[in-house]
Amino acid sequence: MTKVEAILEKGNLDKEDIATLLSAGEDDSGAIFRKAREIKKEFVGNKVYFRGLIEYSNYCAKNCFYCGIRSGNSRYARYEMTCEEVLEAARYAWQNRFASIVLQSGERDDEGFISKIEQLIRGIQVMAGNELHITLSLGEQEMETYRRWFKAGSHRYLLRIEDANPELYRKLHPNDRRHAYQNRIEALRALHSTGYQVGTGVMIGLPFQTMSDLADDLIFFRDLDIDMVGMGPYIEHKDTPLYEYRNQLLPLRERLQLALKMIAVLRIMMKDINIAATTALQAIDPMGREKALQAGANVLMPNLTPVKYRQDYLLYENKPCLDEEAEHCKSCLETRIQLVGDTIAYGEWGDSKHFQKRN
Ligand code: SAM
Ligand code: SF4
Repeated sequence: MTKVEAILEKGNLDKEDIATLLSAGEDDSGAIFRKAREIKKEFVGNKVYFRGLIEYSNYCAKNCFYCGIRSGNSRYARYEMTCEEVLEAARYAWQNRFASIVLQSGERDDEGFISKIEQLIRGIQVMAGNELHITLSLGEQEMETYRRWFKAGSHRYLLRIEDANPELYRKLHPNDRRHAYQNRIEALRALHSTGYQVGTGVMIGLPFQTMSDLADDLIFFRDLDIDMVGMGPYIEHKDTPLYEYRNQLLPLRERLQLALKMIAVLRIMMKDINIAATTALQAIDPMGREKALQAGANVLMPNLTPVKYRQDYLLYENKPCLDEEAEHCKSCLETRIQLVGDTIAYGEWGDSKHFQKRN
């Protein structure tokens, strides 16, 4: 039995085990992916839940060093979708039985933004007769804001920790109050206590990031008892400060492999959570998301943002599907998902089984 096979037989993985799995070469990776697939099938089934992604606005008050839509980047025209446009995208999701949407945007905490989101959530719920589940990905907010949005009818919240190591987090963000690591942790705690299904995640293959950091990231998710995870490869963007370190990065193919191993090891560690196959995987490999489904992921986020805005929501380079209408995305995904042996759970909310148990 190889060392990797012996670890895969264990019930509970420690940091050393996790780091060994993440460092596995191609030969051993096959066994890790197989194990993750078996666990996925047993605990969450071979189903894929769709979350229609609406990239509501690229206005952002923050200046994260990795992100293309950071406030310091004047290259993009800033936009905010109208209420009608958001409702239309949500209607598309509802009519196509996606059952769930994600409202994502740059981070703002002014009252105008907060109440607009509140109205949008209510408007979507009225339009869809409360049949859509709404996930928010709108950054760090006060507890009161999270409560208002929860009361208005949103159910899940995604807030990536980006990297769980505070030292590395500091290198990825400006050193000021708005970008403090502790705020992010407190926001995650506030989300938990508000009653949301809470999701977090990290970028994989960041400059300065080590295998030990990535193992700690997975342990962080486990310790936080998280319900959902969305993580994917870091991809450089030339209008960001981190671009300077691009020569230190793993080649894109290796970053993809590492991201797939992170997903597989997480599935082995947290058997009943929801794990997203994120868009950044597809930016590296056209089949990146499908490979993630085979490595244990069970959620996909087809992009429903109107095509006219997509060029201005470029978090990283080579972002895929910039000119594809939702309808095209949907039929292309259906074929690819069939190919990997999963089925799309149309009309199902797909709540995290872990969340159901936690409550
Ligand atoms: N503004 C909110 C926030 O930061 O939580 C939500 C939207 S933000 C664009 C969503 C995620 O995009 C971030 O959490 C980050 O992990 C990811 N992201 C930003 N720049 C990226 C890059 N260069 N490569 C990969 N992912 C990136
Ligand atoms: Fe703004 Fe989010 Fe990008 Fe940071 S990651 S700059 S908060 S959109």
